[in-house]
Amino acid sequence: MSILVTGGAGYIGSHTVKQLREKGYEVVVYDSIEDGHEEAVFDTTLVVGSILDEIKLDETIKKYKIEDVIHFAAYSIVGESIVCPQKYYRNNVLGTLSLLDSMIRNNIKKIVFSSTAAVYGEPERLPIVEESCKNPTNVYGKTKLMIENIMEDYHKAYGLQYVSLRYFNASGADPSGLIGEDHHPETHLIPIIFETLLGKREYLSIFGTDYNTPDGTCIRDYIHVNDLGKAHILALEALSNKLDSGIYNLGNGNGFSIHEVIQSVERVTGQKVPLREEGRRVGDPAMLIASADRAKKDLNWYPDYTKLDDIIETAWEWHRKNKWGFQRRKNK
Ligand code: UDP
Repeated sequence: MSILVTGGAGYIGSHTVKQLREKGYEVVVYDSIEDGHEEAVFDTTLVVGSILDEIKLDETIKKYKIEDVIHFAAYSIVGESIVCPQKYYRNNVLGTLSLLDSMIRNNIKKIVFSSTAAVYGEPERLPIVEESCKNPTNVYGKTKLMIENIMEDYHKAYGLQYVSLRYFNASGADPSGLIGEDHHPETHLIPIIFETLLGKREYLSIFGTDYNTPDGTCIRDYIHVNDLGKAHILALEALSNKLDSGIYNLGNGNGFSIHEVIQSVERVTGQKVPLREEGRRVGDPAMLIASADRAKKDLNWYPDYTKLDDIIETAWEWHRKNKWGFQRRKNK
């Protein structure tokens, strides 16, 4: 009896798989390895396949006697989702339908789903609670919101039990140094700052300095990737203990501006970040800060990494030792 983790070779997926294994769970990773890394899956069975491939999903579920699913597999580059919507609707939405249908055919009822704060768009009030208005400003966020709606309907019609976890800004790396963030192309603030310090980029571009925030730059709620991993396991365990299906925000509840993130990096590394101020990036909300009260109450989830410097420290350890990400190991 195993847990199927789709997208388990990706950033958040691989951190969750490592924790599941440490807790003694049997895990099968199902990943297309387009964006994920084989090297991020070490002591776990890896099935290379697309979530659009229902035959392969059925085979995998039967072969490994899958009982539950944690579903990360998705394309997740926000800018790309706007210019290539077809790619995102097809893989993220149709791929999830194919996964859910395979689950139902094989009588699997429990799923924990990787959602995002991008479902909210520009918030009307802070902190953001799960009931806040949902107006995603990009296709990526729209695909995740559509999937949440589909899961709700499958819950009503077929008894699917689901937890959807809306992450704020995933960051940091496992302290083991074995896994960390490695996207191609990289679009996220913290890894880009490190790429700059490691000489892979000339400078950090700050996208927008005229937002209605104290220093004019965007404010985000950074949450450690291992705290996200922990929430998936708690959610699956809670579903087994009869938790009702539902949706949960995951964040620290603290917001940091881009300048504050840069200051944290400079404190942790002792280095100065070269930067340039540029225009706004399309679709970026000014401020995103989570209320994770519901996850605390229902899932008993409390983040271990509550200080930005501690999160940044783990990320720096990973990037410092793996300048070229997992590629470095491939070239060895
Ligand atoms: N950002 C930036 N320069 C970069 C990458 C990101 O100024 O090279 C900003 C981005 O505009 C946003 C914040 O950093 O305001 C966090 O962006 P990220 O892509 O890390 O996460 P998002 O909040 O978009 O999911």
